[in-house]
Amino acid sequence: MHIISNRVESLASSQTLAMSQKSAELKAQGIDVINLSVGEPDFPTPRHIKDAAIRAIEDNFSFYSPVPGYMSLRKAIADKLSRENGVTFDPAQIVVGNGAKHALCNVIMATVNPGDEVIIPTPAWVSYVEMVKLAEGTPVLVPTGLVDDFKITPAQLEAAITANTRAIILCSPSNPTGSVYSRDELAGLVDVLARHPEVLIIADEIYEHILYTGGEFVSIASFEAIAARTVIINGVSKAYAMTGWRIGYCAAPTAIAKAVTKLQGQYTSGASSIAQKAAEAAYTGSQDCVEEMRQAFERRRDLVVRLAREIPGFEVNEPQGAFYLFPKVDSYFGATTDDGRAIADGNDLALYLLDVAHVATVDGAAFCAPGYLRLSYATSDENLVEAFARIKAALAALHK
Ligand code: PMP
Ligand code: GLU
Repeated sequence: MHIISNRVESLASSQTLAMSQKSAELKAQGIDVINLSVGEPDFPTPRHIKDAAIRAIEDNFSFYSPVPGYMSLRKAIADKLSRENGVTFDPAQIVVGNGAKHALCNVIMATVNPGDEVIIPTPAWVSYVEMVKLAEGTPVLVPTGLVDDFKITPAQLEAAITANTRAIILCSPSNPTGSVYSRDELAGLVDVLARHPEVLIIADEIYEHILYTGGEFVSIASFEAIAARTVIINGVSKAYAMTGWRIGYCAAPTAIAKAVTKLQGQYTSGASSIAQKAAEAAYTGSQDCVEEMRQAFERRRDLVVRLAREIPGFEVNEPQGAFYLFPKVDSYFGATTDDGRAIADGNDLALYLLDVAHVATVDGAAFCAPGYLRLSYATSDENLVEAFARIKAALAALHK
């Protein structure tokens, strides 16, 4: 007799959420923890979006919503995709779910058969590998590092594709590295993908608006050669500071959108009616709030890159998007603490920083990249200055 299924027994817990939970527990004990673990904007949801939700309550949007979402929201998303990304999706190809995480898991569940290979460039966001495993697919990891700015090359992609490849998950701007593929770099990958018409492209574009390249965000779905087999994953969590509202979507080929709707109809039904009305206001209202938050994140990016470069043994790239810094920290592995504990790996280092510096970070191993740590800089400038000072002092106290 077993209590828990093999499927869930073999699933790893989300390390981003686990570290955040740990830091909340320490805070509840009165310890002044600075939480750089979970990635979510520290801003409140903009006023006009909150007002739309309040109106939705007053107007009795309190009944089950259609499984793929209200048509008015799906139209607003289709308009957004056309206006901002230059891609054409019919509202019928858009399925709204409980966050981009849910939308992505739906797509994987709806398209991956046991044994299918899914290419995941690493470092990669914590949930990709686990979602593929849930679908009994085989994650095929393609490692990158600091030297290549954490981006895969066309040759690496070509080498990873086999007869069993079902899909590739591409995240740009990337969580956890902040790397962004340029139009030319995407074109190189598209050339390879064009030669493999059976491969589905799943583009996680949740950080598209948190961009510091000075240019436009380029969606891989805008390349004609692969547009018909590209799925976009996106949502309101990051661009509009709406992580708790839980609205995301997939924009997909019609057959996939229908399959996702069928799955969602049995599993979760339509997403929250009130949150959908708020998301509609986000997409149709003024976009000034998005730019204001982006500017704050860019200022903090500059700050944390400077502070990180002042820490001996930290090596960083200059992230071009998202709100994460991913320093290489393995020069500290093998060090010992004042009380004689060994720092063998990133997990030890993250726990040491939490215990001693009271700063919560996430071990790079959670992103399939041991040797690194992830720090979210979606917090105030004061918190960042204080957190980096504490990290620097705690690291200086280690015996190498
Ligand atoms: N993709 C990436 C890369 C993310 O960082 C996140 C944030 N957790 C998500 C998807 C999911 O976002 P949400 O479910 O809040 O829309
Ligand atoms: N995207 C955030 C992060 O990576 C939220 C936590 C999660 O959903 O994993 O920290």
